[in-house]
Amino acid sequence: MTERRLRPETLALHAGWRADPATGAVAPPIYQTTSYQFRDADHAANLFALRELGNIYTRLGNPTTDILEQRIAALEGGAAALAVASGQAASAFAVQNLARAGDNIVSGTDLYGGTWNLFANTLRDMGIEVRFVDPADPQAFANASDERTRAWYVETLPNPKLIVCPIGDIAALGRPMGIPLIVDNTAAPLIARPFDHGAAIVVYSTTKYIGGHGTSIGGMIVEGGNFDWSAFPQRQPLLNTPDPSYHGTIWSEAAKPLGPIAYVLRARTVLLRDLGAALSPFNAFQILQGLETLPLRIVRHCENAVKVASFLQARSDVLSVIHPSLQTGQQAERAAAVLTGGFGGLLGFELAGGADAGRRFIDALELFYHVANIGDARSLAIHPASTTHSQLCAEEQTATGVSPGYIRLSIGLEHIDDILNDLEQALDKAAA
Ligand code: PLP
Repeated sequence: MTERRLRPETLALHAGWRADPATGAVAPPIYQTTSYQFRDADHAANLFALRELGNIYTRLGNPTTDILEQRIAALEGGAAALAVASGQAASAFAVQNLARAGDNIVSGTDLYGGTWNLFANTLRDMGIEVRFVDPADPQAFANASDERTRAWYVETLPNPKLIVCPIGDIAALGRPMGIPLIVDNTAAPLIARPFDHGAAIVVYSTTKYIGGHGTSIGGMIVEGGNFDWSAFPQRQPLLNTPDPSYHGTIWSEAAKPLGPIAYVLRARTVLLRDLGAALSPFNAFQILQGLETLPLRIVRHCENAVKVASFLQARSDVLSVIHPSLQTGQQAERAAAVLTGGFGGLLGFELAGGADAGRRFIDALELFYHVANIGDARSLAIHPASTTHSQLCAEEQTATGVSPGYIRLSIGLEHIDDILNDLEQALDKAAA
């Protein structure tokens, strides 16, 4: 099948798989195996020397996981993808695949808390400096860069602020400098297409919308195939100088017969081999099951969230509602340019009654789950000031967009009337 011409609804069901060559099974089998029998000694040697691609050991690759990788690469319009054990592993590998001790990256400040910690502490302890800038200011990325800057990093739709990142403007500034833009598109799969805006790498926590069922942690790194690593040998030494861990392989050269996949090739053969954050085949299967319906689900998430936003706007006990559909000026222009498939399922609002009302509201919810997650098929709610952001002081909470009465919602797939009824009764109880 010529997959590039197929639409997302079709790719989500068909890309990367037709039927099991051994049994004819239509559903992707769970290849729950650690290792694979080599045909003969030459076959084994060829696989290890990368003269031939194939299965060696499930830490490096697995047939079930391969289907998921191919399917997400096809949906994203990328050249190749690498599945990893979690979204956190995807973010870490995405940076470590370009930067080593003494190097730096520049990142937008508006990040998932786990990514912030990884960048501000763990990568720093490994000798990789992360310089934080306001993602709304593309020029700030260039200003913060020097000759040791290996990548820029942003989130498409970061919560809780939900201010859409100007991916195209940032990517365009970095490209002539040889600096690729890595985009965490976890909150906006299918509705934003970062490669169309010049991003070089997309990362996902597949734990969220892509799985959708809330059963399985996973991550994905997708290479756009649109960034010429070999054109910037000084800027990107990890892909352009001999790798002593692989007999002096130069990854940009080694990838040439395979396609524009040098970045994913190195991430798999070096980082996955050495750091070992492989996705289990069972989780790959689960995530594939969810992915099959993502194109349908994401539309409903977006539709329901817009309806919730207008419902909340009409309430006198709600001071403000944060959703990309309600933004104005430059923020609205950027949201419309990047979120071409809908404004997403995340939403925030500020209760007039402050922190006490926030806690009362959360306790009164009956349908919404009170969890620290997003992107589930079910509707979810959290009061960040008393949970995810409770370790921050008041000024830090404000800087990250969390005020005392702020509530974050991840709007699910339930009937909109049931969602609104639950919000209404909880708001009434919080105000009483
Ligand atoms: N990126 C974003 C935007 C997230 O929201 C999360 C998790 O909440 C992650 C990355 C990390 O993903 P995981 O929990 O799968 O490690």
